[in-house]
Amino acid sequence: MKEFACGDIVPNCKAKFRGTTEEILSAVAIHARDAHGITAVPPELVTQVQSLMRPVAA
Ligand SMILES: [Zn+2]
Repeated sequence: MKEFACGDIVPNCKAKFRGTTEEILSAVAIHARDAHGITAVPPELVTQVQSLMRPVAA
């Protein structure tokens, strides 16, 4: 399992996501749209999210 903190990219955002890489990416896409107005997540952002994911104990 992995964890991603949106605050690593967007200052002061408290959202955190846990799950598989695929689960996190889909949750982040929804969060980016609803919370940050990003309707289409660019590939650079996907790469950035993936590089910032941390492994966590299940
Ligand atoms: Zn956020």
